[in-house]
Amino acid sequence: MNDKSYYRKATYDLGAAKLSQLTADEGYEVAFAGRSNAGKSSVLNALTQQKSLARTSKTPGRTQLINVFSLDEERRLIDLPGYGYAKVPESVKLQWQKTLNAYLQERKCLRGIVLIMDIRHPLKDYDQMMIKWAHSCELPVLVLLNKSDKLKKNPANNTLFAVRDELAEYAPLVRVQLFSALKKTGAEKCEAVLDDWFALGYVEVDDAEDIVG
Ligand code: GDP
Repeated sequence: MNDKSYYRKATYDLGAAKLSQLTADEGYEVAFAGRSNAGKSSVLNALTQQKSLARTSKTPGRTQLINVFSLDEERRLIDLPGYGYAKVPESVKLQWQKTLNAYLQERKCLRGIVLIMDIRHPLKDYDQMMIKWAHSCELPVLVLLNKSDKLKKNPANNTLFAVRDELAEYAPLVRVQLFSALKKTGAEKCEAVLDDWFALGYVEVDDAEDIVG
């Protein structure tokens, strides 16, 4: 297990509009993806304990970049552009889809995807697509059911079980846990999964621990 402050070391490196602008394809990357407004920026800020590492208020339609945050010389967190902005012209959407697909398919140092969903609206089309794609590449996915503070215990647990059930065919490569960027719940467990992907150490993660008691 890494020291607790490891993810706090994240510093902003660059924003890439094209794959060719990214850091050399070496070391380890973990990419964060999610529908707009699911809380991807808030999750990144919660994990790194930095209030504004990833900007939490974005203007729909502004240029979308792949943002790179370095943890050390070998390891990076990647903030993929949020998907689902209705106001973006179709041509821009298609271009982004292409860049995203190319990143996901070509990036050799990519070790896993953290897929953030709003617990009240899980498993939308694009989420399903990401999971299917990652599975076809045998890339692990950690689904964070974010904003779990918005639900009471039972509905939160029931959603967790339902999403796990729905994704059971992809286990163990796809795991699902509750998260709240606001309350910072689920962060330690998420870190344990990231530590494993970043080859920083392995700890057994017990999925039963997620259930809100
Ligand atoms: P992004 O578009 O996916 O990067 O989403 P943001 O991080 O900008 O969050 C979208 C909205 O959801 C903001 O108003 C956040 O304050 C709110 N939000 C994000 N995470 C949480 C959470 O865990 N709980 C609650 N209650 N609100 C959250």
